[in-house]
Amino acid sequence: MKAWILEGQAKIEERPLRIVDDYPTPMPMDDQIRIKIMATGICRTDLHIAEGDLPLHKRPLILGHEIAGVVDEVGDDVTTFKVGDRAGLTWLYKACGSCRYCITGQENYCPHIMRTGWDVDGGFAEYVVAHEAYALPLNGVPLGFDDLAPLMCPGVAAYLAFELASLKPGDKMGIVGFGPTAYYLVKIAEGLGIDVYVSTRSKGHREIAEMIGATWVGNILQEGPPSPLDSIIWFPPVGEALEKALKALAPAGILVLAQIASTPITIMDYGSIWGKTIKTVYNVKRSTSRAMVELAKKVDMSIEKRIFRFEELQDAMMMSKRGEMEELVGVLRIG
Ligand SMILES: [Zn+2]
Ligand SMILES: [Zn+2]
Repeated sequence: MKAWILEGQAKIEERPLRIVDDYPTPMPMDDQIRIKIMATGICRTDLHIAEGDLPLHKRPLILGHEIAGVVDEVGDDVTTFKVGDRAGLTWLYKACGSCRYCITGQENYCPHIMRTGWDVDGGFAEYVVAHEAYALPLNGVPLGFDDLAPLMCPGVAAYLAFELASLKPGDKMGIVGFGPTAYYLVKIAEGLGIDVYVSTRSKGHREIAEMIGATWVGNILQEGPPSPLDSIIWFPPVGEALEKALKALAPAGILVLAQIASTPITIMDYGSIWGKTIKTVYNVKRSTSRAMVELAKKVDMSIEKRIFRFEELQDAMMMSKRGEMEELVGVLRIG
C-alpha cells in the first residue's frame, strides 16, 4: 500500500518523511478490523514525533492518529463491525484492559497503553488495522470523512476535557486560548445547554467563537469574565498566567489544563486558589470518545478545515509549524 513513513527523526524542514508505494498492507487479526482510510487529520503531535520532541517507538513508523474510513476486512471473531461500516480510530490504539486504571474506567492512564501513529502504525497510509473494541463506529454521524477525521482527536479530547470540568446545564464554562479542541468544546457546551465564555486575543478566533454560539468573547486575563465561572479549560502553554484563571473561578471551581506543555506554573497568592481544583487532560478514553460520537449525531460538529492531497503531507506539517494555516485544522484526504 501507499504510505508516508518516518525512519529517522529530523526537523520537518529537512523532510524526514518519505512516501513509499510498497509498504505491506496490514491484515486484521481475529479481533481486528481493517479500515480503508478516507481521511486523516494532521496534528501537532505528529510534528512532535517527526522532529524528536517525543521519542521514536518503532521504525519505520506511519504517523497519524485522527483516522476516518470504511471497514474493508474483518477478523474471524469480530461481531460489532461489518464490511462497509464507517469507522474511526483515535490516539488510543489499545489499553491492557486489566490494570487498576482500565477496570475503573480510566484507561487513559493505563501504563501499557498503545497509541496510534506512535507505538503502532497510524493513518497516513491507505489502510490501518484496529482492534474492534477500540475502533469507533461512525455510522449515523451526518458528517463527511474530512470532518470525521479531526473529530477523532481534538473532538474526542474536547469531550474528555469537558467531562473533567464537571459541568451541568446552566453552568458557566470558560475557555482560555482558542484552537480546534476549544472549537469543539464550544460546540459541546452549546449542545448541552452550558454557557461558554471564550478568551482569545485573535480577532479571527473571536469571530468564530461568536458565530458558533459563545455567550461572551473577550480576554479573561485582562478584563476578567463578567461573572465568576464554574470551570475553565486552559490551553496556553504559559504557566505564569494561570493564576488569573484561578481567580476568575467561582468557589469550588475547576481549572482543567488541556495544553501539552507549559512554562513553570507560579501561584503567588494562595488565597486565589484556596478551595479550587486543578486537573489535567491525559490521553483519551473510549467512554468520552463514544459520547462525543453520539453527540455528533445530534449537534453539527463540522469544522473549518484545509484539505491536503496525500502527496502534500510534509508541506502541510511545515505550514502548520509556521502558523501559516488560517483554518482550524488540516486534513489529509486519502481515499
Ligand atoms: Zn491529534
Ligand atoms: Zn490497563
